[in-house]
Amino acid sequence: MKRTLVIGSRNAHKVAEIRQILQDLPFAVVSVADFPDVPDVVEDGETFEANAVKKARETAAAVQQLTLADDSGLEVAALDGAPGVYSARYGGEPRSDARNNEKLMAELAGVPQEQRTARFRCVMALVDPMGAEVVVEGTCSGRIALEPAGQHGFGYDPLFVVDGYDQTMAQLGAAVKNRISHRARALQELKNVLNKMAQSS
Ligand code: IMP
Repeated sequence: MKRTLVIGSRNAHKVAEIRQILQDLPFAVVSVADFPDVPDVVEDGETFEANAVKKARETAAAVQQLTLADDSGLEVAALDGAPGVYSARYGGEPRSDARNNEKLMAELAGVPQEQRTARFRCVMALVDPMGAEVVVEGTCSGRIALEPAGQHGFGYDPLFVVDGYDQTMAQLGAAVKNRISHRARALQELKNVLNKMAQSS
């Protein structure tokens, strides 16, 4: 029987990406959204790592299963690394990808192409309810486009042109994104650990 891996995120886009990237591993991947009694984790950390570890620990304790949590965001060089850990709520509450993208466009108005460099960062924490913890990180470099393009993905994908490509992440689509993204790179680091855990359970 496959061991269960709980994804400590209610973001359906993230969960779908993680599920696809891990599809060859011997785990049944489920979301914390499938556990209606588990309360939301307050993301009040000042770093991606602090938030990822907090989400994974609290969720693993609540569901008593191996749990993987992702905290991720966009760092723009010309904005001194903003929106960073505030990526999800950059445009204010309630959270809206459209408002976040509008604010990013406004903040970068007049900034020329060559100064629009950015990277996506993803920190993932894997926590076993018995206490074992592994933390990994993945990044994906690119630049912020002058205008949005593409329909795939989520968040800042329509504005993020990946290094080595002439298209935004939202134009490239899931098959390419799930090979080259910050999330894919972080998960690549975790695959060996997960395979060993599957064999020993
Ligand atoms: P978190 O749920 O607190 O980790 O927030 C992540 C936020 O960062 C999302 O709401 C997006 O705005 C942004 N983000 C993270 N990963 C991606 C991605 O793969 N594509 C586009 N935006 C992303």
